[in-house]
Amino acid sequence: MKKFYVANAEIPVVEHCNLNCSLCNSHAYLIEESNYPLDQFKADIDVLSKYIHFGILTFMGGEPLLCKNLDEYISYAKSRKMGEIYRVLTNGILYKNMSVDLMKVMDVLEISHYPQMKESADDIQKYLEPLAKKYKFTFYIKNIGYFNKIDTTSITETEAQEGYNKCSRIFYGCSIFDGYYYKCMRPKTTNLYLEKKCGITSEVNMREVDGLKISDDGFRERFQEYFNRKEMLVACKYCLMGLEDETGFKYYVKHKAMNNKLIVRLYYKHRSIYHGYKNIRKLFQYDEGAHTSGNDYVKTEVHDVSKRDKQDRTLI
Ligand code: SF4
Ligand code: SF4
Repeated sequence: MKKFYVANAEIPVVEHCNLNCSLCNSHAYLIEESNYPLDQFKADIDVLSKYIHFGILTFMGGEPLLCKNLDEYISYAKSRKMGEIYRVLTNGILYKNMSVDLMKVMDVLEISHYPQMKESADDIQKYLEPLAKKYKFTFYIKNIGYFNKIDTTSITETEAQEGYNKCSRIFYGCSIFDGYYYKCMRPKTTNLYLEKKCGITSEVNMREVDGLKISDDGFRERFQEYFNRKEMLVACKYCLMGLEDETGFKYYVKHKAMNNKLIVRLYYKHRSIYHGYKNIRKLFQYDEGAHTSGNDYVKTEVHDVSKRDKQDRTLI
């Protein structure tokens, strides 16, 4: 039976974080502690691997290096041949705590380097270079200069549906968390954002209605219907991501490339290709944002989570 192909799956192994970025897309600053249990992850992978093959599996958070046995998640997904590339996306604070088992099993380490981080990107580079050679992973340090603001309560249903119709996240991505498959990561935390940040209680539980329960019968048919659904997610009403301008030749090429397994493998596995492309981008743009398009951005604030006052989470 031919499998569906999805270019990128984001897998938050934990939802909490050791930083507290005020415009975090994952709303990690609102979450005390929340894990994707390994047993549930394995059960989800057992079903998904029968029907879907992924280009890149991105293990992220919150902060994924807070998950002590992250290597076990990746090893299990690898044993089920879930994808082409196994990537860890981290803020890098704990880069010196990575276990040998983790370094052996991941293909790519991508660090979002924030201005407030103590070590410079050069210092991290020097530390990781020999380890990357020894354990055969590719790594990249991305300087984050700003976050785009993507949370909203002010767009209309029509704008939200328009956003959904051209949202790049659902062209090539998905998120998998705790028994559910989602078209994007937003439904997972939108209720929390509305309640804690805006004082709005939605009657709809987006974690449930915007996702696809993996364990229910007839996954293949349900997935096909969910994948092709034209109606927007409830979470789109509170999200500006679909309204980013991701049209034009550059994005056409990106979408084509991400949907080609061979290109995905070549790009991520070969350090010279991966770094060559990234370095060309850097020539044009030193600081990158958490999202690289759109004008509605502000400088991020990053706090050490151990020092933050839990009662006072003032946001920009
Ligand atoms: S590092 Fe910042 S943006 Fe990334 S998950 Fe943590 S709080 Fe969110
Ligand atoms: S919630 Fe946002 S990211 Fe998700 S499909 Fe809607 S517009 Fe796209």
